[in-house]
Amino acid sequence: MINLLIFGPPGSGKGTQSEKLINKYGFIHISTGDIFRKAFRTKTKLGIEARGYIEKGELVPDHVVIGMMSEELEKHTTSKGFIFDGFPRTTIQAEALDRILDKNNNEITLMISLEVEEKELITRLVKRAEISGRCDDQNISVIKNRLDVYKKTTQALIDYYKEANKYIAVEGTGSIDEIYSRIDKIVNKLF
Ligand code: ADP
Repeated sequence: MINLLIFGPPGSGKGTQSEKLINKYGFIHISTGDIFRKAFRTKTKLGIEARGYIEKGELVPDHVVIGMMSEELEKHTTSKGFIFDGFPRTTIQAEALDRILDKNNNEITLMISLEVEEKELITRLVKRAEISGRCDDQNISVIKNRLDVYKKTTQALIDYYKEANKYIAVEGTGSIDEIYSRIDKIVNKLF
């Protein structure tokens, strides 16, 4: 089983590229952001709890995210493999994910990190705000806070996967198809 982690700052294209990988390889896409947004639409306890953090561009506390992820993974015991998008975002989450996967004799195969310059990210997020309706895309100070939170936590996570020899960086600018073909070359070799 191949389990990928797609990593990168807000606006780097994780969701877009995940969709393309799913179509080709049949992975199950697990996006913490999508799970939270669904939870607030349906007004669950999780959604109400998470919304306060998300609106400010802060991270939802680790214990909340980890609890949610363990439940989510239990729903998919027969998966061909997962793409984790937006998780883990802290080393505590990365350690928890390893433990959860290990219970089923599973592990992360590779972290693919999309690299995009900050100026380009802001342009993409401001544009996305016009159509996404996402509460965290609407305000430039919230966007900047998300980018700052990302910068603060990134290095530790990258080091975590580098030490395990599971890290690869991919240039995240160019057309969607160009970026996908860079990623696809890497993923193809894993099988
Ligand atoms: P983006 O990558 O554009 O910030 P996401 O949709 O992945 O968007 O996440 C939206 C928000 O959901 C984040 O800003 C954060 O508040 C919350 N969130 C998502 N994943 C996590 C996580 N693993 N840990 C903590 N908070 C998270």
